[in-house]
Amino acid sequence: EVKRSGRGSVYRYDSTLLVEQERRLAINQALRQAMSANELFLEYQPIIRAANGDISAYEVLLRWESADLGRVGPDEFIPIAEESALIVDIGEWVLREACKTVMGWSGFGGGPKVAVNVSVRQIVVPRFARMVENLLRETGFPAGRLIIEVTESIFEIRRTQLVSEVLADLHDLGVEIHIDDFGTGYSSLSRLHEIRVDAVKIDKSFVLNMDVNARAVIEGAILIAHRFGLVVIAEGVETSQQRDELAAMGVDAYQGYFFARPAEGVCQDLHWQDTPRSF
Ligand code: C2E
Ligand code: MG
Ligand code: MG
Ligand code: MG
Repeated sequence: EVKRSGRGSVYRYDSTLLVEQERRLAINQALRQAMSANELFLEYQPIIRAANGDISAYEVLLRWESADLGRVGPDEFIPIAEESALIVDIGEWVLREACKTVMGWSGFGGGPKVAVNVSVRQIVVPRFARMVENLLRETGFPAGRLIIEVTESIFEIRRTQLVSEVLADLHDLGVEIHIDDFGTGYSSLSRLHEIRVDAVKIDKSFVLNMDVNARAVIEGAILIAHRFGLVVIAEGVETSQQRDELAAMGVDAYQGYFFARPAEGVCQDLHWQDTPRSF
């Protein structure tokens, strides 16, 4: 619609909106077939313990190679899936696929946990914890090595009672709960103690642009999280300098391109060896 742009900004704005709506609709429709068409797959990105450079966990990241639309990123399609019940089926597929796949890794006996992103919309489905329990039994995956990552928005929904019950049930199974994208919301700091949480993941936006304000947020988050006995993980670590600054601030674990990009299998060529053994 570039040619018509001379007709005024209002018109251009409208046609942009229309294009966006059409794209969302196309994604929604294509996503409905994605599972049966085998277009979804998983990548894994290691999380590295600051104290000794060990891989403490792998985060599972969903990928979609659509026959119609090409590669679509989760930042684009997950919010669309969350608008409908689609996310419930997709989320269950991710959990099962991850548990089955990782059980097949030869090195899995050794120790790393597996962190799966779960939408708030999945958590509030009745018997979510029961579904997880059945899935663990079905795949033989040890509950104590499953981490569920939920975003801060978990604190913003009204059904607090239901959410804390579900998270408590998961906890009773032995599953860990990590709060993702920490620092981007407003209501969470004071409510961290209300639900049983094991770790917070500082949002990558603070790490990628570590100015004075971002530092203040990171330092504050570390202080409060540690007060509550929680582990602090920093995402988006792209350089050794960022890692060193985070280490000095007291972060417990890192995740980011500096260490390894998400990949389809176990991480072979991780360059964490130069991570100091202790700080
Ligand atoms: P997230 O859970 O916060 O995942 C971290 C994101 O940061 C991933 O993006 C990862 O590829 C990216 N990342 C890792 N290290 C770096 C780095 O050093 N620099 C930069 N710039 N980025 C880095 P990705 O894979 O595109 O996923 C985006 C988001 O989509 C995830 O953010 C998560 O919220 C959501 N998502 C992904 N898979 C699933 C899933 O299976 N279920 C649900 N509900 N959400 C998912
Ligand atoms: Mg995550
Ligand atoms: Mg995150
Ligand atoms: Mg995110």
